[in-house]
Amino acid sequence: MAADYYDTLGVSRDASTDEIRKAYRRMARKYHPDRNPDDPDAEDKFKEVREAHDVLKDEQKRAAYDRFGHAGVNGGMGGGGAGPQGGFGDINDIFGDIFGDIFGGGRRRQSRSRRGQDLRYTLELDLEEAVAGVEKEVSLPTLGECQTCSGTGSKDGQLNICSTCGGQGQVRMQQGFFSVQQTCPACRGSGQTVKDPCGDCSGTGQVRETKTLQIRIPAGVDTGDRIRLGGEGGAGAQGGGAGDLYVDVQVRPHPLFQRDGDDLFCEVPITITTAALGGQMKVPTLDGSVMLKIPPETQSGKVFRLRGKGVQSVRSRSSGDLLCRVDVETPVNLTKDQKELLRELQDSLGDQPDQSPQSSGWTDKVKSFFDRMGF
Ligand SMILES: [Zn+2]
Ligand SMILES: [Zn+2]
Repeated sequence: MAADYYDTLGVSRDASTDEIRKAYRRMARKYHPDRNPDDPDAEDKFKEVREAHDVLKDEQKRAAYDRFGHAGVNGGMGGGGAGPQGGFGDINDIFGDIFGDIFGGGRRRQSRSRRGQDLRYTLELDLEEAVAGVEKEVSLPTLGECQTCSGTGSKDGQLNICSTCGGQGQVRMQQGFFSVQQTCPACRGSGQTVKDPCGDCSGTGQVRETKTLQIRIPAGVDTGDRIRLGGEGGAGAQGGGAGDLYVDVQVRPHPLFQRDGDDLFCEVPITITTAALGGQMKVPTLDGSVMLKIPPETQSGKVFRLRGKGVQSVRSRSSGDLLCRVDVETPVNLTKDQKELLRELQDSLGDQPDQSPQSSGWTDKVKSFFDRMGF
């Protein structure tokens, strides 16, 4: 867990920019590695201080941090969790782009229009919700189109050819003997500049906002499934289309059932008498309970398959099975009388091999092993 940035700098949450700068200078001097050659922790502390200052000195990053904590500035949101990643970058990249330099990247662009960011959201569901399907409301931080300038970034809609690069988007810099080509810092590679930037979005065409969406989850989804909502990602800018929202499903562990594909597993404890004499057990399924017939002489670990009582597949109409594994339980807290009854049973069973086939078979194997080894 990362330390709170305000705590790191030792300032209050409503500290002014000036107070933050002063606190940073004080702390940076204190922990500078050159001043603390014998303290190995000082360098880490120094990095923490610098990171806190980097965020809090920037009005936009600070607002994101105040609202979403470390997730707002470092990436990572929602319920966490793994799940496959593909088609677009790591979640850290995505949120780095949103809250960091949205113009980043040195690629030359031919036009100012930018497609919106693809967003990823990890949605945690209960097993019941994943199996039956559910509608969920999610809120996520995103960049939306600036209403004031309709996303153009320009107060009056006028664009100029960038004077720094002459519309090339790239500039050449002389460094010693080398000539280095760089993305134009003035237009950030677009070749165009806004004549009169919109005040509400500082000319970017995008504003930070929280987007609330109703997401319909189809029945049968499982951890690792990804739902794509086209056009529900971040807004584009200057005519670019919106990005997509990818919802990654993460199913929470269930107290009774484990899922494997469309099959469900559950453990069913039974008494030694039910195991020996047979009987019926009420077992849970996702749509109510059913009676499971336990035949006489059932051994611990036996698996009974209830066909069609698993999960209906999200891809086909077929349903999986419910597999019930019985677990024979040794009774505890026995009374004197009960112990006496068991001793009588023990005496009655004696060493008759046909009444305890597993134990007898095992004893035979141990005996032949010892004979072979000469014990
Ligand atoms: Zn604007
Ligand atoms: Zn330029």
